Order: sequence, then C-alpha cells, then structure tokens
Amino acid sequence: MSRFNISPLKIPKRLLMGPGPSMVADSILEKMGAAPVGHLDPYFLSLMEEIKRMLREVFQTSNEFTFPVSGTGSAGMEFCLVNLIEPQDKVLVGINGLFGRRIADLALKLGANVQTLEVPWGESIEADQLKKALDELQPKVVALVHAETSTGIRNPIEELSPLICQSGALFILDTVTSLGGIPVFIDRWGVDATFSATQKCIGAPPGLSPVSFSPRAMEIVSKRKTKIPSWYFDCLLLHGYWGMDRIYHHTAPTNNNYGLHEALRLILEEGLENRWQRHHNAYCRLKKGLSELGLEFFTPDNRRLSQLNAVKVPEGKDEALLRQKLLDQYGIEIGPGLGPLKGKIWRIGLMAEGAREECVDKLLVSLEEVLKS
Ligand SMILES: *Cc1c(COP(=O)(O)O)cnc(C)c1O
Repeated sequence: MSRFNISPLKIPKRLLMGPGPSMVADSILEKMGAAPVGHLDPYFLSLMEEIKRMLREVFQTSNEFTFPVSGTGSAGMEFCLVNLIEPQDKVLVGINGLFGRRIADLALKLGANVQTLEVPWGESIEADQLKKALDELQPKVVALVHAETSTGIRNPIEELSPLICQSGALFILDTVTSLGGIPVFIDRWGVDATFSATQKCIGAPPGLSPVSFSPRAMEIVSKRKTKIPSWYFDCLLLHGYWGMDRIYHHTAPTNNNYGLHEALRLILEEGLENRWQRHHNAYCRLKKGLSELGLEFFTPDNRRLSQLNAVKVPEGKDEALLRQKLLDQYGIEIGPGLGPLKGKIWRIGLMAEGAREECVDKLLVSLEEVLKS
C-alpha cells in the first residue's frame, strides 16, 4: 500500500446553477471517458474539421479561422488580444463588471493605450455612451463583453455593433456566457474576433475556448509591426495545426475535444433557436418562483440575461451561509456576488443542461427551505 494512503475520489453529484461550470449531459461525459487517439490521427483530424464546421454555425459566422483554443475562456481572451493588439494601440474597453476589467488589464499588459468606457456594475453599456466615446477617442480596437457574468447584464450588441462598424475600429467581443444561451451573430454584427468557453451555455466541462477571427483580423495579424508576444497563442502557428497544414504545434487536449464535439452536436440537434428559447423559458419560470419567494432581481429586466440571474440577498440574511446550506444540504451550487456586489447578490445560472424546468423547480424548493431556516 502507498504510504500516502489516499483513497480514490468519490466525486459528489452537484446541481450546478452558478456562473459556470454548468451541468454536462451524460453523452458528453461518455465521449470524454474514451481513450485518447493521437492528436494527428486521421480520425482526430476529421473530428477537428467537424468541430470547426459546427462552431461556425453556433457562432453564426463563415469565418474560416474558427476553432477551440486549448484553455479556458481567459485563454481565448488572451489569444484574441495578443494577436490583435500592438504596443501603443488605442484600445477602447467597455467595462460594466469583472470581465470587462479583465480585458482592460490584459490590454495594459500588452502595452496598449487603454481607454475605458465604464458604467456602474449592474448597468449596461448603451449606444449613446459608446457613440460619444468612439467620437472622442477614435480607437483602433473596441472590446466589449456580451454577457457580463459578474452582474447578469447583457450589453445590447445589436445596437452597439453598427456604431463600431461605422467607426472602422476592429471589434473584439467576449461571448463566453452568451454563446449557446442567447442569440449571437458574429457576422451580422461585424465582429472581427470573438472568444467563448465550453463550460457555460455550451454545456461541456471547462478546458476549451472556442474562438473565431474574421478575414480582416487575420490581415491585421499579418501586417503587425511587432512580433506576436506569445508562442502558445500565436494564431499563425495555431492556424498551421487547425488549418489544413496539420503541423504539430501543441498536443490538443483530445478528450476535451471529444466532449466539445458532442456538445456542439447536441446544440445543433436541438436547434439554436430552440435552445435560446429553452434558456428563456427557464428564466421565466425562475422569475415567477423568485417573486413568489419575495426575492428581487438586481438587474433591470430589459437588459437581464436569462442564463445568469443576479438576485438580491434579502435584508438581514447571511449570503454565504445560505449559499453554503444549499450546497451542503441540497447539493446545489449557486454563485456569490463579486467585487462591489460581494454579500449583496446571488448569481443563479441557468446554463445548458441547467436551463430546464426541473432544475429550476429543484432550486426554488431548496431555496425556500434555506430561506426559512
Ligand atoms: C467565465 C468568463 C470568462 C473567463 O472564462 P474562464 O473559463 O473562467 O477562464 C470571461 N468572460 C466572461 C464573460 C465569463 O463569464
């Protein structure tokens, strides 16, 4: 016997209704449990092609360079920024929560001239505000977050994107929490670069970050004056592997790609619109149930995300304690508030497999119990 005396894991079953990771369908877990093939095996290469094709459909894009970066959503963020930003570039970042802030921090590390359009946490970035910032600053790059997971706010990209297109700026969009949950239209919105993640509304475990670059983004990379300040995220090297040349770059995480393939297949089998509707229906049920419990939303309903609901903690209740009880007694995870919202809100995620009536009902019943206790 090993002197470490460590027992095999007995992994608890949770109902994940927080800000991600989300519930994963059994068929995805089954595929991920298979033995890996080689990352250059012809079987794997054809699987890569199917993933690319399915991702284009889910992103609603015809961008050839659409593939999953190996790493979580933040890796996709880094991929977009290291390739498209050069020192001194004027980059306008919309900030209304944690993830806009993260984009700005990363752009600063890359030596960009970062300008921010900041609105309070819990508000959305609106067209008149963006128009003013674009006119004043004339940025080379604009980066926005579609679904701000830290606050449950949706920035109205359908209204913001025409302004960015008119300004001629390169448009980077974080679709980590939106993709697969609410409408995302990469080509219609004129998005040049986007990154997402597998563990939110795509419904696979964390580990991959689907990204897409427009032909214009690829051209900007090819005209850089400075070297891409990364090896792992160099899009030209990655194109060598994910494009048709199949040149080894790094060992693709095969099993995560098995899982993503199945997750995308399930999304397209369900249909994008049906899936968006399912997320919306789950939200409607949650909204009704929360109001019956006397709970209020933190976010205004015209800009509220169906897949991530920020709910005010009732006066005098201990946020962390009640959340802990939900986990310990009912096996349900919801998320805390972050930054200025710590202790003030809960974040209830209705993502992927969690966006179902039975999950919402289970949460509501359990929440009622812990609120009474
Ligand atoms: C979760 C999230 C990220 C970061 O993704 P990780 O997978 O945690 O690295 C980025 N942006 C948004 C909007 C997110 O919700």
